[in-house]
Amino acid sequence: MVHTEETLARLAAIPELTVLTGAPLSDYTRFAIGGPADIYTETASAEAFIAALSVARSSGQDYVVIGGGTNLIVSDAGFRGIVLRFTAKRILAAGNRVVADSGAVLQDLVDFTVDRGLKGLETLAGIPGSVGAAIYGNAGAYGHSISERVRTVRFYDGSTVCVFDNAACEFLYRESIFKKHKEWIIFSTELAMDTADAAQLRKTADDIVKVRNEKFPVTMKCAGSIFKNLLLAELPDRAARQVPERVVREGKVAAAYFLEEVNAKGMTRGDIHVATYHANLLYNGGAGTAADLRWLIDELKSRVSEKFGITLEEEVQYVGFRDGVRP
Ligand SMILES: Cc1cc2nc3c(=O)[nH]c(=O)nc-3n(C[C@H](O)[C@H](O)[C@H](O)COP(=O)(O)OP(=O)(O)OC[C@H]3O[C@@H](n4cnc5c(N)ncnc54)[C@H](O)[C@@H]3O)c2cc1C
Repeated sequence: MVHTEETLARLAAIPELTVLTGAPLSDYTRFAIGGPADIYTETASAEAFIAALSVARSSGQDYVVIGGGTNLIVSDAGFRGIVLRFTAKRILAAGNRVVADSGAVLQDLVDFTVDRGLKGLETLAGIPGSVGAAIYGNAGAYGHSISERVRTVRFYDGSTVCVFDNAACEFLYRESIFKKHKEWIIFSTELAMDTADAAQLRKTADDIVKVRNEKFPVTMKCAGSIFKNLLLAELPDRAARQVPERVVREGKVAAAYFLEEVNAKGMTRGDIHVATYHANLLYNGGAGTAADLRWLIDELKSRVSEKFGITLEEEVQYVGFRDGVRP
């Protein structure tokens, strides 16, 4: 393994790459939790990003790619290795086709399309984070996901820049092939939109943002929903039998239902809290730690497992935990 000082020098020599040491990752996560990264890098240049990734790989050190940090839980110890962030933000339209860089803010893409009367992303209004991570996790809300609009995704697989069409991305509910290949880095996406009245799209988007801001105040230190919702058809009989019909929507059962049944609402550990009005929403009151957050998540998983015989799966992604999860 190459010594960190040498890695640092090689990274510092890459044009257009910002390199920081000991950057507190709490500054880069919406939870405002997470210790320092040995090395933090960011760039809006694809060439610089590829060069940085190549240094990271050859250094033998761990590395991780982050976006806006709205869906991350970073360990209190931080990250021993190199954090990489791609910040290119270009959004372009030609007819009903839109191309967006992965570092663009998803809301900027939503606004861009809505303002041009391009329909298809308006229900994603108010989802925080970047376009790249939205592709990675197939972000969505109000019955629609970004995958419905994706034509192609351009990404770097570690040796070449590749382009996948929609089918090759293997999109499923909050899933894509990119989750199975965490070393692949998304650079941009091309979307196919429909046309509609811009004023009507704006109203839909604004109404959604209003509702969302009540549920997730903009200053709330959280990651939205912690756990994924579940498909009724995939539940074991014991759990499915306990689910009343009224809580099933489009074949899915909200994770919040199971969490409510184990009295999650209002639970607290240190300064980490489960919202009193939403059992799948955990937030940091200001002095929360990753250790307390993990404790509460584990406690909720074990209560649900005991009562229903199912294992809730996190939608949030962990950074800096040994074996990918533990601090
Ligand atoms: C208040 C609130 C509400 C939310 N509501 C919703 C919702 O309704 N629906 C929904 O789907 N999500 C929701 N989320 C979750 C979050 O907004 C999404 O997961 C979002 O896509 C994360 O974007 P990010 O840029 O912050 O990614 P990050 O949190 O930084 O990263 C998430 C993952 O994406 C990967 N990643 C990031 N960029 C790239 C890239 N260029 N190439 C490859 N991998 C990459 C990272 O490695 C990481 O594993 C909500 C979050 C919050 C805080």
